[in-house]
Amino acid sequence: MAGRDGDGWVSCRCGARHWGRHGAAGLVLVRARDDGAAEVLLQHRAGWVHDGGTWAVPGGARDSHEDVVAAALREAVEEAGVQAADVVVAATVTGTDHGDWRYDYVVGVVAAGAALGAANAETEALAWRPVDERPQLPLHHGLARDWDRLAAAARRAVGT
Ligand SMILES: [Zn+2]
Repeated sequence: MAGRDGDGWVSCRCGARHWGRHGAAGLVLVRARDDGAAEVLLQHRAGWVHDGGTWAVPGGARDSHEDVVAAALREAVEEAGVQAADVVVAATVTGTDHGDWRYDYVVGVVAAGAALGAANAETEALAWRPVDERPQLPLHHGLARDWDRLAAAARRAVGT
């Protein structure tokens, strides 16, 4: 396995610093409930990680040898115990593109009965939430901004 070379900060032309020397990616894991409504897996990030204490989707820095799908799946496996073999990738959605740094979402569908494994220490809690209502949770600022576009992509992914 190639080494992790994505961990590190980027000083971006926007004036901010972003985590992920080659950008970052997150997995929007979607499943269809019995009534057909889509729900997505949210991760409560541990307080000690960057932007910790908020709810987001599992994700993190992309390594140089990875595409966004590989990075998002790897992070979701590590952080949320997602079984990569159970995930059918449906779409990618660009969340942020500042030139010097970008964040991409990967929308992946999992069967309703698929189990999650053990989450790592970066994860305080995991929760499935319906996409049709904005969660009443302290969302990570990026997820809060992108929620409506991701909800639409999640509905398309499960055909609702
Ligand atoms: Zn920036």
